[in-house]
Amino acid sequence: MRKIYPTFWISIFFLLLLNCATTGPGGKKSLILISTQQEVSIGKSLAKDIESQNKVTDDSILADYVNRVGQKIAKLSDRTDIEYHFKVLESPEINAFACPGGFIYVYTGLLKIIDNEAQLAAVLGHEIGHVVARHSVKRLQQVLGIQVLLSIALGESSEITRKAVGIGIGVILQGYSRQNEFEADYNGAYYMTKAGYHPQGMIQLFGKFEEMEKGRKHTFLDQLLASHPPTADRIVRVKQHIPSFNLNERKLAFGEEEYRKIKSRLK
Ligand SMILES: [Zn+2]
Repeated sequence: MRKIYPTFWISIFFLLLLNCATTGPGGKKSLILISTQQEVSIGKSLAKDIESQNKVTDDSILADYVNRVGQKIAKLSDRTDIEYHFKVLESPEINAFACPGGFIYVYTGLLKIIDNEAQLAAVLGHEIGHVVARHSVKRLQQVLGIQVLLSIALGESSEITRKAVGIGIGVILQGYSRQNEFEADYNGAYYMTKAGYHPQGMIQLFGKFEEMEKGRKHTFLDQLLASHPPTADRIVRVKQHIPSFNLNERKLAFGEEEYRKIKSRLK
């Protein structure tokens, strides 16, 4: 049997240690073997596809507003090593999503049903929460397996690795686990509060989803409902988290007036 030298294990140990990233509030750490640079380049190619298949709004006032709210929250998140991009897609669908590397999209269908800036902050905060937690990267890691990941981490970019990453992207597009969604809710509620928005905005947003579910008028909501845990469960969990955010000491906004002006632009 071939002897494996201790230096091998020492280098593996340091490799793992160096690759622990902060993936949530309170210094939460996860083992991330796919580099930020690789993640951003995957995100960039997905973003390119999305923007060629959907119409990005040409209303610059609307686009700037959504981007401004998003940047304000992202800046205070646990992940500031990447550049965030927030874009509005013209579609009646009631949904929003995040690609790896900080490319975040929200549909005009969702912007039309919300009525204050705190609710928008909840939407964007949730998506930032997925990016901070590296949910898509973690899924990719699961699919690729340790051998491919080690070769990626060691900088060996073979044809096999490229193919494996290609397969992994398909998995990312299938969506996240329920546990991931609850974590993104928690992260989002935490970050939006940090940015000065009342976390009640997230409860209000989920209340709207629930109302639409009951009214069975949710053709445009189907995708969101299918990819997320039951709305009632999300409300219960966020309500449990809010007391830990120390709201008493904070002056928090709903931003009704600001949003009213923007909403009037949505036809
Ligand atoms: Zn989500």
